Amino acid sequence: MARSISYITGAQLLTLRRRPNIAIIDVRDEERSYDGHIPGSLHYASDSFSDKISDLMQTVKGKDTLVFHCALSQVRGPTCARRLASYLKEVKEDAGIMDILVLERGFNGWEASGRPVCRCTDKPCKQHDL
Ligand SMILES: [Zn+2]
Repeated sequence: MARSISYITGAQLLTLRRRPNIAIIDVRDEERSYDGHIPGSLHYASDSFSDKISDLMQTVKGKDTLVFHCALSQVRGPTCARRLASYLKEVKEDAGIMDILVLERGFNGWEASGRPVCRCTDKPCKQHDL
């Protein structure tokens, strides 16, 4: 079964991110370290994304909704989302992932709309309540 990847707006994500079954995956590269990030987001840089997919799958065990983003969500975010979708198809793994989403306008759009940004240096970020 082919999975389709849909887009989600910042406003939708703001509400959704309170749910325990959602994981936000930041695939920006070095920008994450100086631009801040969405509170509670995981970091899997796009340049090493393919090597870390199985690690990612362990980390998101129990989540059913994955939201990808990069700076603008035009190239890296959708690319990594598609890579994950084809990985799941290849391994025929039923990981319980129902939805693979991409955040419209990416981190830059999120920040420009005045939504919460975390600037911690924790790996992973433990901040969910901003
Ligand atoms: Zn943080």
